[in-house]
Amino acid sequence: MNQHTLSMRLERVAAQVPIGARLADIGSDHGYLPVALMRRGAIAAAVAGEVALTPFHSAQRTVRENGLQLHISVRLASGLAAIEPQDAITAISICGMGGETIRDILQSGKTRLSGQERLILQPNGGEQPLRQWLMENGYRILCEELLQENRFYYEIIVAERGAAVTYSAEQLYFGPLQMQTRSPVFLAKWQRMLRQKQRMLTELARAQQTVPEHKVQEIAQQARWISELLG
Ligand code: SAM
Repeated sequence: MNQHTLSMRLERVAAQVPIGARLADIGSDHGYLPVALMRRGAIAAAVAGEVALTPFHSAQRTVRENGLQLHISVRLASGLAAIEPQDAITAISICGMGGETIRDILQSGKTRLSGQERLILQPNGGEQPLRQWLMENGYRILCEELLQENRFYYEIIVAERGAAVTYSAEQLYFGPLQMQTRSPVFLAKWQRMLRQKQRMLTELARAQQTVPEHKVQEIAQQARWISELLG
């Protein structure tokens, strides 16, 4: 993967960035996503935010080597602190981190959100708490994608502020749109998850040390939801 050829995962994220957007890519690492989009003429400008020094330097290098310093600002900052009002950002991508980390970035940077931005989020696990945050903060999920690359499943959640929407506990767990579509990859993911949950429950039943009862009940509830979903 590089700034010319994105991974399938980042390619699917790129497809959700509106043409002509002013993009903030938070946790940009190497900066491949904003650089690839800028090279394709798909976005007008970008901010690449990074909290760690090594990836920050890596993003700076990618931008410099592509002669895009006038169009992409690389900033060393935590989360949405990379965004300034004058950037007039219209889309924010936060990809390749746990869902809880993405939620915390959104929560602690709330004052930097105008409410007009499209959020393109690619959590690695922790989708449920992330969807919960979106619902509680007035976001509607517009699109959800699930893809498998190598052995891993990746979710992409696209959300915008809109009329208030309430998702059920199951919708927050599985994804409201994915539950409707029931794609083959979605069903395969949850078949695998069901096997994992059942294994966990068997191991917990055998475990010597006591595991909090609410934890066991939570896993049992999830296993029931998955069984119902798969019919
Ligand atoms: N977004 C790229 C992708 O999806 O391929 C890189 C993902 S990489 C696994 C996660 C990056 O997020 C790391 O470079 C890390 O330094 C950065 N990161 C983690 N927490 C962050 C935060 N609070 N603010 C900005 N960057 C953060």
